[in-house]
Amino acid sequence: MKYPWIDDYLMHKRGVTRDLQMEWNWIRYQIGGKMFAAILLDDQNQPYYINLKLEPLEGELMRSQYPDIIPGYYSNKHHWNSVKADGDIPDDMLRHWLDRSYSLVLKAFSKQKQREILGLTVCGKDCSICPLHGTCRGCSNGQAPNGNRCPIFACCNRQCLTTCASCVQIPCEIWQAVREPSITDEAFPSSISDRIAALRSAGLMPPCK
Ligand code: SF4
Ligand code: SF4
Repeated sequence: MKYPWIDDYLMHKRGVTRDLQMEWNWIRYQIGGKMFAAILLDDQNQPYYINLKLEPLEGELMRSQYPDIIPGYYSNKHHWNSVKADGDIPDDMLRHWLDRSYSLVLKAFSKQKQREILGLTVCGKDCSICPLHGTCRGCSNGQAPNGNRCPIFACCNRQCLTTCASCVQIPCEIWQAVREPSITDEAFPSSISDRIAALRSAGLMPPCK
């Protein structure tokens, strides 16, 4: 296969699980129990297609431009596409399509579920390292750790955003005004940049120029 980086790339996305679907001989990559990519294996267990999801019109356009992407093998041909594992699709193009597929499947979940899958709150706080993990009422639900309503969550909610990552004002004055009481003045700027980095690493913001 021409794309040895693919497994690592997909497994570094937040919330991704991988399994081997024996009956189809696919390595399946899922978020929230839904598949967004698969590596199809032949009878020698070698990859021969990479399945991914695109918007139907985008898929049709890409298939008309690149002979090495075809309608989804063993899949719904309206939504799914198969990229030849030993074809000539450039690496960057394939990465872009995999990102699109991940994003399309993620966005089909409710906003709350998306944040659960990503393990991130609206402001990019990583639940897995939060001391309140497992016992909180959830700053992702608008309840800040001190029991007050979280203004960042309320603002996101008003704008129908999943997280602040989609907002051009990030980090806005609300971000500057809301902080955990334990964070010092010195640590606060890096808390903001860490949370923006977490949102960025989840593919929720454009990468740094
Ligand atoms: S308070 Fe709850 S929702 Fe907020 S970061 Fe911690 S574990 Fe996640
Ligand atoms: S204005 Fe601030 S709190 Fe509201 S969505 Fe934008 S970045 Fe988030």
